[in-house]
Amino acid sequence: MDFIRRGQKDRIEFFESLAKGMLPSQIKRIQQNDKGVLKEIVLPEWLKWDTLFEWSNTLRVTERGVPCILCGNETKNWIEFKEKYICEDCFLKIKNTE
Ligand SMILES: [Zn+2]
Repeated sequence: MDFIRRGQKDRIEFFESLAKGMLPSQIKRIQQNDKGVLKEIVLPEWLKWDTLFEWSNTLRVTERGVPCILCGNETKNWIEFKEKYICEDCFLKIKNTE
């Protein structure tokens, strides 16, 4: 039982870091079932597309309507990050400074 639980925890952590490592536009393509994105991202072998697809639909990526909290610009690609909306440019900046 413990082993199973630990395995699930590892997967949750994996998905959390996966979300941080992906661009909002890439997540959106997964949500749209666009497998072309697999050429741009590296995934472990155990991760099946269906699982990735299900996971992506638990994330919220919106197209417009909320200004970026960091730069105020409106771009096509948004992601909810720590309960705030940020644009892809700022997302990349945060990612690069981590
Ligand atoms: Zn921004």
